[in-house]
This record gives sequence, C-alpha cells and structure tokens, in this order.
Amino acid sequence: CGPDCSSSAGYAAINSICDYYQSIQDRPVKSDVKPGYLLETLPDAAPTDGEPFEKIAADFQSLIMPGITHWQHPKFMAYFPAISTYESMLGELYSSSVSNPGFNWICSPACTELEQVMMDWMAKMLGLSDEYLTISGVGGGIILGSASESALTAAMAARERALHRLTRSLSPADAAQTSGSSTPIPIREQYTQKMVIYGSTQTHSLGAKAALLLGMQFRAVPVSRSDDYSLRGHALREVMERDVKEGLIPFFVIATVGTTSSGAVDNIAEIGKVLKAYPTAFLHVDAAWAGVAYALPDHRKALRLDDVNQFADSFCTNAHKWGLTGFDCSLFWIKDRGNLTEAFDVTPAFLRSKESDAGSVIDYRNWQIALGRRFRSIKLWFVLRSFGVTGFQQHLAEGIEHCQQLASIVNASANFEIVTPPSLALLVVRLRDPLAPNSPDEVLNRLNQALYARLDARHDVMLTQTVLKSVESEVHCLRIAMGGVNTTMKDVQEVWEVIESEGRQVLEEYRSQRE
Ligand code: PLP
Repeated sequence: CGPDCSSSAGYAAINSICDYYQSIQDRPVKSDVKPGYLLETLPDAAPTDGEPFEKIAADFQSLIMPGITHWQHPKFMAYFPAISTYESMLGELYSSSVSNPGFNWICSPACTELEQVMMDWMAKMLGLSDEYLTISGVGGGIILGSASESALTAAMAARERALHRLTRSLSPADAAQTSGSSTPIPIREQYTQKMVIYGSTQTHSLGAKAALLLGMQFRAVPVSRSDDYSLRGHALREVMERDVKEGLIPFFVIATVGTTSSGAVDNIAEIGKVLKAYPTAFLHVDAAWAGVAYALPDHRKALRLDDVNQFADSFCTNAHKWGLTGFDCSLFWIKDRGNLTEAFDVTPAFLRSKESDAGSVIDYRNWQIALGRRFRSIKLWFVLRSFGVTGFQQHLAEGIEHCQQLASIVNASANFEIVTPPSLALLVVRLRDPLAPNSPDEVLNRLNQALYARLDARHDVMLTQTVLKSVESEVHCLRIAMGGVNTTMKDVQEVWEVIESEGRQVLEEYRSQRE
C-alpha cells in the first residue's frame, strides 16, 4: 500500500462499486468520449511524489468512468454478455489479495487444487463425459484467459499429437533428416509447414489467429443458409480431400457450438465421422458463449452435447461470457492431458519440485503457454457456491425466455423478420420492407446498414451488426444478445422499441428517396 492508502480507501471503493451497480441503469450504455480523450488528459509521466488515494479514487470517477462502456447495463445487448457478479468481483479481490502466479502446485497448492475441483464441478454441471474430468487421471480441465487462448492451446497440443503420429513409424535417423530438399530441414518443420487448420466461414477469428500464430493455413469451409449456417461434414470432407491430394496435412478442426454471428451449431457428429479417416486430425469444440447452456438438460440435444462427448478431443466455454463470472475465465477441457504436457512441459532445474518429480501433483504451467497464471478458480468457486446449480440454470433460463418473448414480438411486427432460428438468448433480425416483400438481399442489406448506423449513433442502447455469408448469399442483420444478469423483459421491450422506431425512420427515408 502506498503511504496514503489506508483500509478506509478499501471500504470506500466497495461502497462506490455498490453505488455504481445501484444506479447503472441511469447511465448511458455506451461511452461517448472521442478518441484520445484520456491521452490528452493524463500527464505524460508518473508523478514524482505519491498522491493522496482519495484523489486517485476521485479521478477514477471523473476520468475513467466517462470512457467506460457499461457491459453490465441492462440495455447492453451487443456482442455477447460478459457478465460480472458481486461473487465474481469479490473472488477477484481475494485472488489479488494473495497475488501469486501459481504455475506449480507448490507455488500455492490451493490455486491448483481449487482449479482442479472447479473444472470437475463445471464439467459435471454441463454434462461433459467423465473423460474430461481431472479426476479421471487422463483428461482434465484448466482455466485460461480466453477462448482464443484455449483454441491456440488446443492447436499446439494437436500439433504435437499429429507430429507424434506422423513420426512414430520413422527411424530416429529419418526423423532427424530431410526428404528431398537439398537443405536439411528437420522433419518436424517439413510436417508443420504442411499442416492445415479447419473451421467454417462462421468460425470465430480465433481459428485464423491460431493458424497465423503457428505459421499455418486456415481453411474457412463454406456453409449454407439452408443449413442455418452450420458446418456440415460433406463440405469439410470436400476441402480436406482436396488438401490431402495437394500433400497437405489436416491436423486441427474447430467446430463451433453457438457461432458468434448467429448462434449456429456445427454438425459435430458428421464432422467427427469425417475425421475418422484422418488419424492426425484433432477436433476442438469452441462453445465460448453457448457452452454454459449445457447446464440446462433440456438444451443439450439441440446443442449436440452427446456428439461433443463422443467425437471431440477438447472443448471450451467461457464462464466469463454468459456464465456469471467476470472476465477472464475461459474453461478448457481435454480428453488426454498428455497432449498438453507433451506440448508444454519444459522444465529447467529451478522449476522442479519434489511433488512434481513424484508425479503426485498437477503443475498447470505444463498445460498452458505462459508460466505464471491468475488465481481464477476462486471467483468461479464463489459464483457456483452462491448461485448453486439451480441459480445458474435459472439465470440462463431467464435469458432464453427473454429471447423467446422477443421472437414472438418480432414475428408480429410488419417491418422486421427473424433471420436465423432464435439461438438460446441470441436473436438475429433484419429490417424488411413490407410494401416490397420480395426485395432482394442487396436492397435489404442497404436498409439494414442504415438501421445499424442509426442505432450505433445512440448511447442508450448498444447492439452489434453482422453479415451472414453463405454459399447462397450475404445477409446484413442485427444481433440482439440477451442474457445480461441485470436485464429484465422490460429492458428487452424498451430496446426493441428503439430498434423499431429507428427501423421506421429508415423505411420512411428510403421511401421518400424513391418518390
Ligand atoms: N468463440 C466464439 C463463438 C465467440 O463468440 C467469441 C467471442 O464472442 C470467442 C470465441 C472469443 O472469445 P475470447 O474473447 O474469450 O477469445
């Protein structure tokens, strides 16, 4: 603590955070500051002498708060929710109060063991198969910072597994040699240069990013509007077969449960069956947003949980999206933890411990990219204990109920249509022209771009647009992402009134231009 920071500053901070949540609905959702607002205001170097903490806390309110977009605002319906709760915030506070980078069990045994237990609690609550449980001794779960990090981690594990499978039949001499090239290239490099990652055009940018970071290619397999933008086995097979003919090696496939644009669920069973012909291929399921909904048994079939359990090698969902736990808390499970340790275990003498040498503990540094790690399990523990499974389920069910009610409202409206089937708490809609019901997509796209521009200029709501690309068309639409922990049906209705009224204006302008 600095010279002037006393425990009273701590009490004051908690009070001001509580006040913030009591009045959050009275703030604009979206910050209206201009680029550079803070850069112009803050001094260009740290103060020479310490300042009173009261002044620092006051500057948080006067300088930082204006530049905050309020993701916990009940009318925030952009992207996907990134929910925080008091339980989670307090977990963060306790975690930072015992700040330590917990990379080895011995660094803080509680960090490792609580994470093991939390990942098993979550796996059981979601209905993941026992193979994913840490207690199985073979599989296991780890909390990472983001779904993108989880996908990259899975890809790195997959690369090692593929290399192992490709080289196990080679003699040690061959494995260290070249094939055909005049420059000796280690065999590992020869293979990795040919490796390809697959997803669909709807896969989150994490697929392309993992490929970029690993120096590999990413194939975005096309999807069809008639399949509701879900990746099908035959489309994947076609692209993979073409690649194999060209000497490439399919090694990593990302299937999504709940795509970002429309909440589509890829056909994991078909994908899994295609991959049977490719022993080097590893299937990762990215359910960053939708995965927590497996906590609701009634939704498991539509979200293809049985297929995840049967066909996937690894699975990720973010507790930090819809799962009541503040950013960051990405839950990543793998059926064979050996795939991780083979990729990540680099142990110099100073990182050894007698417990690790005895093999009696998990050192999570060997399951991830970084060495140090945050004590994230504590916030998840607080959330799961305070809400319980039923409270967690109720929260999810409310978001889904709001979405269903909004879907009925949209269905009854003349000026809007639902573009893809409502997916959990996500509704994708677009403006249409009831006076010209057969308007082509290009016309509707222009109308919807105009609608989004109007909505984007407002600060009392926040929504995101998307473009659904398929083999048939390109459709501009509006995503309404419900499920915020502070959002009521009244908020949803009020946001809808804003969308409808802006939609009316767009149509009026469009018609007046045509006259
Ligand atoms: N995957 C999907 C399906 C998403 O919708 C998102 C973000 O919205 C992500 C991955 C990225 O998550 P993260 O920010 O944790 O990398």
